[in-house]
Amino acid sequence: MTEPLLGIYIHIPFCRKLCAYCDFVRYPFEEALCEAFLKALCVEIASFEGPTRAKTLFLGGGTPSILTERQLESLFSCLFKIFEFSSPEISMEVNPDDVTAASVQHWERIGVNRVSIGVQSFDDATLSKMERRHDAKGALHAIDLVAGHFNNWGIDLIYGASTKHAWQETLNITDSLSPPHVSSYALSYIPGTPMYNATRARMEDDTVLQLYQDAESMLARYEHYEISNFALAGFQCRHNLIYWKNECYAGFGPGAYSFVDRIRMANPPDLKDYVEYPGRKAEVTQIDLFDEEVETLIQHFRLREGISPGYYEKRFCESMDKNFGAPLRILMERGLLESHEGRIRPTAQGFYLNDEIGLLLVK
Ligand code: SF4
Repeated sequence: MTEPLLGIYIHIPFCRKLCAYCDFVRYPFEEALCEAFLKALCVEIASFEGPTRAKTLFLGGGTPSILTERQLESLFSCLFKIFEFSSPEISMEVNPDDVTAASVQHWERIGVNRVSIGVQSFDDATLSKMERRHDAKGALHAIDLVAGHFNNWGIDLIYGASTKHAWQETLNITDSLSPPHVSSYALSYIPGTPMYNATRARMEDDTVLQLYQDAESMLARYEHYEISNFALAGFQCRHNLIYWKNECYAGFGPGAYSFVDRIRMANPPDLKDYVEYPGRKAEVTQIDLFDEEVETLIQHFRLREGISPGYYEKRFCESMDKNFGAPLRILMERGLLESHEGRIRPTAQGFYLNDEIGLLLVK
């Protein structure tokens, strides 16, 4: 059997300002702590045991664009000592305020070929409510610089933080800028975050659905290839497709997950723990064949293309119809899945009510 090509994820857990809605693994930036973290990260990467050929590298966070040129180069050199990349997609998440003429040139020089800009909104009132570091003008300036250097770039947006009008304005501006990729996520009000504590009236589900549908209709010239993701032809995110197809990936940094050889591992989210014991796992779970089959179906049903029975059979040496024919037929009768050109894929309704697909498949 040929060795699988991995997706490599690196979690950079520092931010200059903590946003009001965020519960990711992130810490206020401190220079000395960041240096200690990077040392630990290289130790973790060097001690990796598993397949070493990779097709994608994704620097996420936190804020990877917080790293200096020297820090990024030393991180890439640790990675390239261990992993062999074959025509990789190398993505980096950036904060608009970190984008300068010099930084984009440097990212390009070290091999980054896809940049994802955390815009969230083009409305200043919304940005300030979310306590983002940048404003709309800063985001437009960053987009100008990034689009001048990279063909493959995208923006992340969040809806549900303020008015329908502000969201539609953000979508209008997005459409006029034509980013090759747009991720559009609903704001989650997570207990414990300042935004959760400060907001009494949450948006009704129907309103959230309307905002979702606004994105669908105003980004209609994009391929809506995953529930929350839109791309122009040829610009789907190859790294995230690895998760949505339940393929192998290795994650490094606090809170990062890996899934290799049907073993799921999680790093401790606590930064002190991580720095003290780099590579120590907080969780190691052996996934059995049935769980991998279910998870593979659930993940594929986040994608507009769905899954083909032939792919399933080749991957698991079993028949999809034999294993899951009954729930798949129920989901088709309910209008959440449909058969299309030999594949089973989610309908528009199946995108809105995606959790119901998962619930029925795990029963
Ligand atoms: S920049 Fe991103 S990771 Fe950092 S606090 Fe804001 S949302 Fe969270």
